[in-house]
Amino acid sequence: MRAERSLPNHGYPGRLLVFEGLDGSGKSTQAALLGKWLQAQGYRVFFTEWNSSELTASVIRRGKKKGLLTPTTFSLLHATDFADRFERRILPPLRAGYVVVCDRYAFTAFVRDAARGCEPVWVRTIYSFAPRPDRVFYFQVPVAVSLKRKIASRLKIKYYEAGMDLGLSDDLQESYERFQTRLKQEYDRLAKSDEFTVIDATRDVESIQRELREDVRPLLKDFPTGERLLHDS
Ligand code: ADP
Repeated sequence: MRAERSLPNHGYPGRLLVFEGLDGSGKSTQAALLGKWLQAQGYRVFFTEWNSSELTASVIRRGKKKGLLTPTTFSLLHATDFADRFERRILPPLRAGYVVVCDRYAFTAFVRDAARGCEPVWVRTIYSFAPRPDRVFYFQVPVAVSLKRKIASRLKIKYYEAGMDLGLSDDLQESYERFQTRLKQEYDRLAKSDEFTVIDATRDVESIQRELREDVRPLLKDFPTGERLLHDS
């Protein structure tokens, strides 16, 4: 069996900090807090999230709405989407020496595509343009906790988030739990192979944020500070 290729180092002057985990694991809350704190420390920070780019949004939306996507076309369209985000949003500030805070990165595609049955080695090859981040914070929570937070936040569970396209169950919540369990298994596997920094995300917001700040301090030692915070939306 072919081995999954590890991502190459980026070699740019900036720093790339990535937040990964299940929906409801609390990663967006922490990414926003860390970004603001870094900015208050004087670092030049650029914040970017995983949402469809102008280039692919309409085709992905249409494909999803009409049920036209297979695991392969789902994967390839999202890879195009991420390539666009990477080249237009992530790479320029990384080159310019910013701390780039990414709410989801290529690992999100790795786990989703694997959960849909795509071959991990094939998926990695497609994403070989994406360099290894300086840190991948993986917000590890049991599926039950992420579901509880999701329900409490009153965010509607979407069809594809629940993996309904896979026919795991006719019931949205049951399908969501099964699909998220698959995603968690894959995240837990990548945590070892890709050396994620695993965060026990069942804890309270403040103690998680303290841990993140301690972790990034050495990474930013001797790193130049500026004064601007940019946001991509
Ligand atoms: P994600 O980006 O992983 O989907 P969010 O940061 O959006 O997660 O958080 C999902 C919900 O859980 C929000 O309502 C948020 O306020 C809440 N939440 C975030 N972190 C925690 C935490 N450590 N403990 C309890 N609830 C949290």
